[in-house]
Amino acid sequence: MDTVFSPGAPPADTRTNLIGLSREALTAALLEVGQKPFRAKQVWHWLYHRGATSFAAMTDLSKDLRTKLEDHFVVSRPGISREQTSSDGTRKWLMEFADGQKAETVFIPDIDRGAVCISSQVGCTLTCRFCHTGTQRLVRNLTPAEIVGQFMVARDSYGEWPTPTDERRMLSNIVLMGMGEPLYNFDNVATAMKIVMADDGIALGKRRITLSTSGVVPEIHRAGAELGVNLAISLHAPDDDTRSMIMPINKKYPLKELMQACRDYPGASNARRITFEYVMLKGINDTTAHARALMKLVKGIPCKFNLIPFNPWPGTPYECSDAATVEGFSQTLFEAGFSAPIRTPRGRDILAACGQLKTDSEKLSAREKRLRESEAAWAEKEAALG
Ligand code: SF4
Repeated sequence: MDTVFSPGAPPADTRTNLIGLSREALTAALLEVGQKPFRAKQVWHWLYHRGATSFAAMTDLSKDLRTKLEDHFVVSRPGISREQTSSDGTRKWLMEFADGQKAETVFIPDIDRGAVCISSQVGCTLTCRFCHTGTQRLVRNLTPAEIVGQFMVARDSYGEWPTPTDERRMLSNIVLMGMGEPLYNFDNVATAMKIVMADDGIALGKRRITLSTSGVVPEIHRAGAELGVNLAISLHAPDDDTRSMIMPINKKYPLKELMQACRDYPGASNARRITFEYVMLKGINDTTAHARALMKLVKGIPCKFNLIPFNPWPGTPYECSDAATVEGFSQTLFEAGFSAPIRTPRGRDILAACGQLKTDSEKLSAREKRLRESEAAWAEKEAALG
């Protein structure tokens, strides 16, 4: 059957995107069009060291070869639907993918470096009750191209190509803490992170990457063994009753199993401690008794805490603990020998702070929907007027 295109609509681009292919897949793709493996090495260098966005930029390839590559492949990053910069320097991108789905990426700058917070899914299957993203149903997993592409877009934005030395990197770290549960999309996350870590490209060391999970126990070991990246656990409660109430995944993987997975995490040591994220919820998980129970829970695990003042969102049943309570909680842990800093909320004015990521994209989607509806209404009126 013929495919009918509406007038003016371009046919879908069936060329393969080279971004997001593992090195083996890239080599195989080029072999298929008659190119020897050394070409894959050259192209990889252009993509991930130089940050080329087109074949035309690959000036050490012959013109004929560039044309041939262009016939079969594209070099494509996610589009930017919206970019905002907070008064504190935090920058947020609403990335738009080829199918129109969107996810957010945030850069949190420090004095001479900074972390890019990357999404792994559009929406999330988990329903952590304090998290606004968790109220948005899972739409789909992001592909390796969409995951690595988020970091590349962030680097485009800061002109960080060709790959600088470690000391000169502004975008020096990746945290997989955006939308979604990375361990429910592990294969794609792993492919993307292996691309990011490859020495002859973006070359970001595994110690500069942190994967944050809500506690998908069976995949935790795999993340350590295959990627060797830092591990962060969204813990948020020291006992099963409280944790199951605010994080339903705890019913599937209770704390005993989760703590054992942390004890067994490859590479965890005092030099590479596991981070326990702990959102401070008034009257839920913030008493001194909770702090003491936490210390008991993590006994024997090389770890540190990261206390997160809760960012309220419309409709949430929770409030943030009082500043004095958060301070006291931190102090109790600190006196017992744990590092437990209180995270300073960043990018609040652009809704980029932890747990706020859903809000903006959904608001935008609603606005876009209204815009589309009004455009459709106008089109109807114009058609009726002839
Ligand atoms: S905290 Fe993470 S895992 Fe839980 S609902 Fe939010 S995005 Fe999903």
